[in-house]
Amino acid sequence: LKGVAKAGKTGPILGWDDVGGLQEVCRVIRELLELPVRYPKLFASAPLRLRTGVLLYGPPGCGKTHVVAAAAAACSLRFIPVKGPELLDKYIGASEKAVRDVFARAAAAAPCILFFDEFDAIAPKRGHDNTGVTDRVVNQLLAELDGVSALTGVFTFAATNRPDLIDAALLRPGRLDHLLFCDFPSQAERLDILRVLSRHLSMEDDIDLQYLSRFSEGFSGADLKAVLSDAELEAVHSAIERPREKHNQRPVITMEMLKSALARAIP
Ligand code: ATP
Repeated sequence: LKGVAKAGKTGPILGWDDVGGLQEVCRVIRELLELPVRYPKLFASAPLRLRTGVLLYGPPGCGKTHVVAAAAAACSLRFIPVKGPELLDKYIGASEKAVRDVFARAAAAAPCILFFDEFDAIAPKRGHDNTGVTDRVVNQLLAELDGVSALTGVFTFAATNRPDLIDAALLRPGRLDHLLFCDFPSQAERLDILRVLSRHLSMEDDIDLQYLSRFSEGFSGADLKAVLSDAELEAVHSAIERPREKHNQRPVITMEMLKSALARAIP
């Protein structure tokens, strides 16, 4: 469903071009999703179970959710995002049922990507929860993950900031066995992200994105997006100052606005 997932003010997510940096992560996901579609007969006759599960991990705001939404758009797969904590239900049995229901929904929507965000909330190591709720949820997840594959058209992705908390059985071969690290972007990656995120913004011609990428060490993609949004807001404010007859002109971001947004930003 191209363009269904929205990326806020930066426009709809349409495909791989909407991802800055994260080249290796994109390459692995692309291979995983595109090869079975391109060579269905070969894959259907493959004797081994196809590996279709991915766990993305890394610091907040570094594009884990974004890259999966882009992958879904690029491969024309439905995107079913599920927030881990929302699946947890204190009533006995209800959380497992919620997990079963989500997988049933995904099977009905195939071909699709089922994406669990904040996965650590529903998939912690078993044996540490007095109520037993999360242990049962993990058992249910294990059962469901064993039932999906590229052949059923359900690709399961999960994301977490804390891979160390996740029950190891979920990461065994045949389950979420591709582990992909989404790290803070390097300078070149920051430049790439800034280019992607600023494509739809109205900016003056002399904007120096190189400068921004150089002086934003330690910023995540989400932090860079916040800098651009902050500058955009300033552009709107300065447009408000114009005489009323000029209010129909689109607010334009200047380099000064970007520099002061960057100086204000706390990554
Ligand atoms: P969390 O761990 O908090 O869920 P996350 O790693 O899933 O964070 P996202 O939600 O994917 O982070 O990123 C937040 C926003 O930052 C995205 O909607 C996107 O606009 C922007 N962003 C982050 N990384 C990138 C990137 N590599 N390319 C383009 N945009 C990015």
